[in-house]
Amino acid sequence: MTPTALLDRPATRGAPLVDPFGRAISYLRVSVTDRCDFRCVYCMPEAMTFLPKAEVLSLEEIDRLASAFIRRGTRKLRLTGGEPLVRRGIIDLVRALGRHLRTGDLDELTLTSNGSQMVRHAEDLFAAGVRRVNISLDTLDPGKFADITRWGRLPQVLGGIAAASAAGLHVKINMVALAGVNDGEVEAMLAFCATHGHDLVLIETMPLGEIGVDRVDHYLPLSRVRADLETRWTLDDLPDNTGGPARYVRIRETGQRLGFITPLTHNFCESCNRVRLTATGQLYMCLGQDDVADLRSVVRTSDDDNALDAALTEAITRKPRGHDFVIDRRAAAPAVRRHMSVTGG
Ligand code: SAM
Ligand code: SF4
Repeated sequence: MTPTALLDRPATRGAPLVDPFGRAISYLRVSVTDRCDFRCVYCMPEAMTFLPKAEVLSLEEIDRLASAFIRRGTRKLRLTGGEPLVRRGIIDLVRALGRHLRTGDLDELTLTSNGSQMVRHAEDLFAAGVRRVNISLDTLDPGKFADITRWGRLPQVLGGIAAASAAGLHVKINMVALAGVNDGEVEAMLAFCATHGHDLVLIETMPLGEIGVDRVDHYLPLSRVRADLETRWTLDDLPDNTGGPARYVRIRETGQRLGFITPLTHNFCESCNRVRLTATGQLYMCLGQDDVADLRSVVRTSDDDNALDAALTEAITRKPRGHDFVIDRRAAAPAVRRHMSVTGG
C-alpha cells in the first residue's frame, strides 16, 4: 500500500456518531486479521479454521473505513486481531493511519499484541506515531506460558516487551485470570510490571466462541482476585475515564496502577463509547451481541464516502443498551458464537 495515495482522500468532517442512548462513538477497535501465531486455550481451538483471504478487508479498505469513523468523531483507534503484527503490510497501514495523529483528528493509535513479532516492529510503530501498546502475558512461568498459548514461547514475548519499552512505547500488560492456572501469580506479575514500568490489566474470561474445553473450570471472578490483593495492599479506586470495561486502582504502597476488566461482574455498558470492526468488515455495535452491520459490502460496491457515511449512521442507530454475557454451567453454548480473535480483544 502506498500511504501517499491515501493522503489524497479528502477529510471533510461529518456529524458525530451518537447512538440512541446518547453515547458518542469515539473509540474504534479494528481486527486486522483473524490469524494468529499462538493458540491460547481460552481464545481458540488448536485446529482453528481461519477466514478465506478474499473475505478479509484489504489494508486500503481498513484505512478507508477507519478514516470514515475518524471523520465522524472517533478519537482513539486500536488495531487488534488475531495477532495484528502477523498481517503482511501492517506497518504500512499503521503509517498511513498515523496521518490522522499529525492532523490532530485522532488522539491515539494503539495496538493489542501477543508480543511475538514486537522485536521486529517496535521502532517502526513508534516512528508511525504509536505511543502505547497492550501486550498479553498471562504468566512468567515458561512451562505454563507454553501450555496456555500452545505455540508461544515466553522468551520471545519477554524480548518483544523489552523491545517495545526500548523503542519508547508505553506497555500495558494484559493478563487473563485463569483459576487453577495463574491465580497465584498476580503478585509476581505486579512485581514484574513495577520493575519495568508497565501497567497491569487483569481480564476475566469471556464466553466468546467454542474452544473445545469448558471455560467454567477456569473462570476466575476478579472480585475474588481483588479481595485477595486487599488482604495485603491498599487499593484506591481511580476515576473512570475509559468508557470501557476497565476499572483502575492505584496500589497505595507502590503507586502502581492496576486495571480490572470485568465484563461479567460489572456493568460498564452505560458509558460504552466503542464499536468493533472485524477483519471482514463486519461492524459489531456491542462485543456481547450478535447484531452486525456489513460495511465490507458498502466499501466494495461504492467509492462514494457519502454511502459509507450513511451506513455508519444507520449502524449506530442499532447499538444496543448493553450485553448479556453469562458463564453458566447450565448454558450449553457460549453467549456469543464468534471467537475473540474475530471481533478483536
Ligand atoms: N493477539 C493479540 C493478543 O493476544 O493480545 C490481540 C488479540 S487477543 C484476542 C486480545 C486480548 O483478548 C488478549 O489480551 C487475550 O488474552 C484476550 N482474550 C482472548 N480470548 C479471550 C476470552 N475468551 N476472554 C477474555 N479475554 C480473552
Ligand atoms: Fe492469538 Fe491473542 Fe487469541 Fe492468543 S489471545 S490465540 S495471541 S489472538
